[in-house]
Amino acid sequence: MSKKPEESPSLYIYGPVPSRRLGFSLGIDIIPSKTCTLDCIYCQLGPTTDKTLGRSKYFSPGEILAQIKKKISSGQRVDYITFSGSGEPTLNTNLGKLIREIKKFTTIPVAVLTNSTLFIQRDVRKALRAADLVVPSLDAASQDIFEKINRPCSPLKIEEIIEGLRTFRREYKGIIWLEVMLVKGVNDSPAHINELKEAISRIEPDKIQLNTVIRPPAERTARPLSPEELEKIKKVFGKNCEIIAEFDKKAQESLSGNLELAILAMVQRRPVTLSDISTSLGRHKNEILKYLNLLLEQGKVQAVVHKDLTYFEPN
Ligand code: SF4
Repeated sequence: MSKKPEESPSLYIYGPVPSRRLGFSLGIDIIPSKTCTLDCIYCQLGPTTDKTLGRSKYFSPGEILAQIKKKISSGQRVDYITFSGSGEPTLNTNLGKLIREIKKFTTIPVAVLTNSTLFIQRDVRKALRAADLVVPSLDAASQDIFEKINRPCSPLKIEEIIEGLRTFRREYKGIIWLEVMLVKGVNDSPAHINELKEAISRIEPDKIQLNTVIRPPAERTARPLSPEELEKIKKVFGKNCEIIAEFDKKAQESLSGNLELAILAMVQRRPVTLSDISTSLGRHKNEILKYLNLLLEQGKVQAVVHKDLTYFEPN
């Protein structure tokens, strides 16, 4: 009897994964791996391989939408449909069209995680207007720190990006949560925090969310702040600032499909712990471990220890 071919994993979607901010988030990845306008020292996906400002269609919108529809109709819990993934989503020229099309077949809110660098372009701001929630990031308020932490494409200027964010705030009726990634010794000095505070007060986001280096970074030198240090900075930013808390672990409903492929798809997107995988896929840790051991033996994944936690990533 011939072996039944395995179902190929979804190319453009992953999860739902438990997200610290968005509950069970169905990730939509519309950019080739590590295609980005930045090369952040803390990037959990590793170094940027295609650093570019050039926007492109990249993939067929029809295929992306078909995969989203199929996943939603499977009955798994999805709290947000989230454009993020392995590159900068605003580099895709079909982003606005995709969001508008999703809104035609579901009421699940749509979020976009973006590095803000293209907000200076009117077309990019227009594309984002259809989203319910935009989570832009801003890690620096001065050009020298911007270059140190985000290692941008050379024409990018932080002052213009802040201006783009300000303009977007005026045009956009949805919710903006501005994320600030803090790296020890790089952008956390009191003087720079005050500069950031001033820039953010001009942007007027609905929330400021402080983050630090939790997952293994592109550069091992990118180190996290302690909870106490984050608390101090939170007080400087004031009442609409929060530290992004670890996701409250809950079991996901049943998983259909091939468990090994599902684990591999998660690992390929970002470094994940055993708990991340178990919670996301709704399976006992021992069961996940069985498959992880197999994948380790086959050399498809590797285990990396970071801050006392073991993460699994592609080998
Ligand atoms: S963290 Fe985001 S913005 Fe920075 S290099 Fe990675 S994908 Fe690009």
